[in-house]
Amino acid sequence: MNSFEYKRATSVAEALKEGGTFLAGGTNLIDLMKYDVESHDKLVDVTRLPLSKIGEMPGGGLSIGALVRNSDLAADARIVQHYGVLSKAILQGASPQLRNLATTGGNLLQRTRCYYFYDTALPCNKREPGSGCGAIGGFNRIHAILGQSDQCIAVHPSDMAVAMRVLDAVIMIDGPKGKRSLHIADFHRLPGTTPNIDTNLGKGELITSVALPHIATHTKSTYIKVRDRQSYAFGLVTCAAIVDQAGKFRLALGGVAHKPWRATKAEDFLLGKPKMAENFRAAAELELKEAHGYEHNSFKIELAKRVIVRALTEIS
Ligand code: SF4
Repeated sequence: MNSFEYKRATSVAEALKEGGTFLAGGTNLIDLMKYDVESHDKLVDVTRLPLSKIGEMPGGGLSIGALVRNSDLAADARIVQHYGVLSKAILQGASPQLRNLATTGGNLLQRTRCYYFYDTALPCNKREPGSGCGAIGGFNRIHAILGQSDQCIAVHPSDMAVAMRVLDAVIMIDGPKGKRSLHIADFHRLPGTTPNIDTNLGKGELITSVALPHIATHTKSTYIKVRDRQSYAFGLVTCAAIVDQAGKFRLALGGVAHKPWRATKAEDFLLGKPKMAENFRAAAELELKEAHGYEHNSFKIELAKRVIVRALTEIS
């Protein structure tokens, strides 16, 4: 690991003035630096910033401070009661120790777990643009089946972000040019020709909170995570699903794309249709119609269809 300057900020203004790379829980950033995947000249510790609260927004919904720890978010009574899918998703991610340290903002910004990305001896367009993609012709069991490009087939590893995608979360940002917000659909990017850029967060910008829009009571939800072992493993395919009292489904998939994947085709197909197995399967078929697998991950296409059907069945 290269040497770097360390500063601790006590306010958002001070952090933005310092610039550098923001350090919160460090559960991914420190690994990236230790493995020489990333190097940073200056880390600005933002853990003392007053962004650790969950508050009710005027007009409904919750505002989650960017520094709320994953464990605290999953255990919050308002989250459990009204946004259960989020609590379930977080509790299926990482380990208790990591969840105690990892923050809401950091979770959104975590980088792919593609093996080639972390091994600096191997080609990776995300780590070193133009060097090639080791995964496309290599071992690609955990990689993408939707939205990938010929430059990168990595997936986003977060469980929390998949639940936030189905909840239509809005990311609140502060930066050198002022405050702005991004719907989570526009926050993470597909790889295209710039797989080195994971999100649309600008240089020097800091996530300050995440807004969860009001959700009707009595909404049913589930989060299904299929993985190689039952704990401390990233999802091969995950699915966040909710259904409101009017019977309208919302679905998002994880482990299949470079960003949390909202299954809009399946959602639209199911509108007004009877809640029955044939329709669930047809919706899943439609959503995965454009899916494309590689030597070791084609199983994910059928797996994703089955996970969608199971999620819809559970909440019907
Ligand atoms: Fe790098 Fe993406 Fe290819 Fe993995 S899939 S080796 S992250 S370019």
